[in-house]
Amino acid sequence: MINYTERLSLLMHDIVRRVPTLSFIDMADVLVFARAGRSNAEGAFATCHCLTLPPSEPGYYFWRDRATHRITRRSEWFVTKSPEVWVGTQQIKYMISFALPRFCDQSLDRSRKERFYPGADPWVAKLDTVVHELYHIDPEFAGIRRIEKEDGTYSANCHGHQFFEQVAGMVHAYLKTRPSPDVYDFLCEDFTSLDLRHGGIVATSFRSFPSFPQRYIERLSEQLPCEADKECAAVEPLRPPQHPTRYTDEHLHVRHFMKDQSRRLIRKGEFRAA
Ligand SMILES: [Zn+2]
Repeated sequence: MINYTERLSLLMHDIVRRVPTLSFIDMADVLVFARAGRSNAEGAFATCHCLTLPPSEPGYYFWRDRATHRITRRSEWFVTKSPEVWVGTQQIKYMISFALPRFCDQSLDRSRKERFYPGADPWVAKLDTVVHELYHIDPEFAGIRRIEKEDGTYSANCHGHQFFEQVAGMVHAYLKTRPSPDVYDFLCEDFTSLDLRHGGIVATSFRSFPSFPQRYIERLSEQLPCEADKECAAVEPLRPPQHPTRYTDEHLHVRHFMKDQSRRLIRKGEFRAA
């Protein structure tokens, strides 16, 4: 079987070693994992998730009466935090997730990026996505990279209009360094033919599949009075977090991905607790 996320991590190691713009990235800070995504459904091929954002300012939710517009109740005060993810003794700063099998079936043909790669092989679309997600990592590790506009202010979205062109530039720069095909040739085949060749496609996922670490709400230990209390006194308690707030290797597993489903891979001799 081929471990797809392992192959993607090795490819990323090679890319950050060869492409100067991305050389600040230490792949030990990055966890690559797989999510579910069907090839014939709309959705992202991959996503960059940041774990380095500081906690938000304290806040609360409130509800208004439709007729009187008065605040009828509010939640307790909370902050929003990033979960901690540890692999061994390394705290992860960014995670990059890939949707399988959708990512494997991506092609340059009739895609938005085709114009950046005249005459290139269809699989280069996948290399473009890998570089795209790496480029979202902020050199200051302070969230998703912000895109500076010509006037020195920052763009409201994380893809300034030159973003796609810059990504293509890095893809060309990488290929120009003549990387070993062993590092990227797994991208050349679609899901079905790769699956046939290797007798299965597996990938690292979180045991909580399809859920994965995401920002969560934490109740402030010191609850403060607030503006809304002038209009109402009803305070709704917050639910405790429904998911772990700290993840370790224990929360990861290897999953077997098939065309329309995936399941946890049970190794021979492994006891499966009910
Ligand atoms: Zn993006």
